[in-house]
Amino acid sequence: MSNVRIVESRSSTWVYHLSSDPTSLVALCGAQTMTSPATLESWGVVTHVGERYCPQCARLGGK
Ligand SMILES: [Zn+2]
Repeated sequence: MSNVRIVESRSSTWVYHLSSDPTSLVALCGAQTMTSPATLESWGVVTHVGERYCPQCARLGGK
């Protein structure tokens, strides 16, 4: 699972998943997602907007 990137939920704001799909439209956990400018290094970082990170994707992606 080397080619994962951060993607953003299409149904919720500030909810992030991981995806290895070339289109970034499907997360590792199966959720519908869209591309995000966030880099993998920022996975797990929570700022004042209260980002949330999918625990299922974290487990599947080895994060
Ligand atoms: Zn997920």
